[in-house]
Amino acid sequence: MHSNAQQQNQAALSRYSGRFAPSPTGPLHFGSLITAVASYCEAKSQHGRWIVRIEDTDIPRIYSGSEQHILSCLDAFGFESDAEIIFQKDRLHIYESVLGHLQSQDLIYACQCTRKMLGSNHIYTGTCRHLGLSFDQQAIRVKVSEQNIQFHDLLQGQQSANLALELGDFVLKRRDGIINYQLAVVVDDYLQGISHVVRGADLLDNTARQIWLGRLLGYPELCYMHLPLAMNDRGAKLSKQNHAQALDITQSSTLLLKALIALGQLPVDLDQPERMLTQAVAQWDRRQIPKGGEIRGIFA
Ligand code: GLU
Repeated sequence: MHSNAQQQNQAALSRYSGRFAPSPTGPLHFGSLITAVASYCEAKSQHGRWIVRIEDTDIPRIYSGSEQHILSCLDAFGFESDAEIIFQKDRLHIYESVLGHLQSQDLIYACQCTRKMLGSNHIYTGTCRHLGLSFDQQAIRVKVSEQNIQFHDLLQGQQSANLALELGDFVLKRRDGIINYQLAVVVDDYLQGISHVVRGADLLDNTARQIWLGRLLGYPELCYMHLPLAMNDRGAKLSKQNHAQALDITQSSTLLLKALIALGQLPVDLDQPERMLTQAVAQWDRRQIPKGGEIRGIFA
């Protein structure tokens, strides 16, 4: 399977490759800026590459115009992707072919259960695992096992999850045909030769699923670093769903400085964003990032 890509992947893995992978479900906000800054500085301070990927498979949740807003925002903040920016909605055939591979290995199955049938704890008990349903217009689930999945997160420390007990077989493709984030992210991190994932701690509990899927596909394991989440002064997470304020590109230098300070870094001189990022990379010290799950403040 994807043998050329496999070779490219091996070559790329010999050095640090990081990424910033926003979903265009709304404009970028201060929490997104923290992730962009940290993933960028981690990669560049290790002489690695840093790429941008737009994760837009969940069409119903895409907010029209936000892809463009994200790209111009990154530009205004001085970020430049080291590879062509890919859009996942153009790569559905790749995810389908990976599903085909998993099907040929009997690692996935079709499921007709509705959300209601899952019960209140949302753990899927494998009702459809042995029914041999046709894949047409059904959700597709991947089989999980009871083994503990352990990994060391560079900020959050040792992590362990048991997918069978905590979640059950999980969905890779929805009944409406939408490819799930878990599948697209694992395939693209692999095909793009990503070695390090730096993202918000709200995604920490997705990681075991992604490691499991990567193992089933024979992909090398990645390093993970989950950043504390920016909270507003009322203690709520800044998120697109909470309608966090969009980044104001006319304030890019000031906001960059605030993001670096929120990440525990030494301040940089107020300047053009590109020059501020260069200084931030030179001073970058991961050990200063607050360890817990949250960063509080007034981030507008
Ligand atoms: N697309 C995801 C988001 O915007 C991030 C995915 C990731 O970093 O793994 O929340």
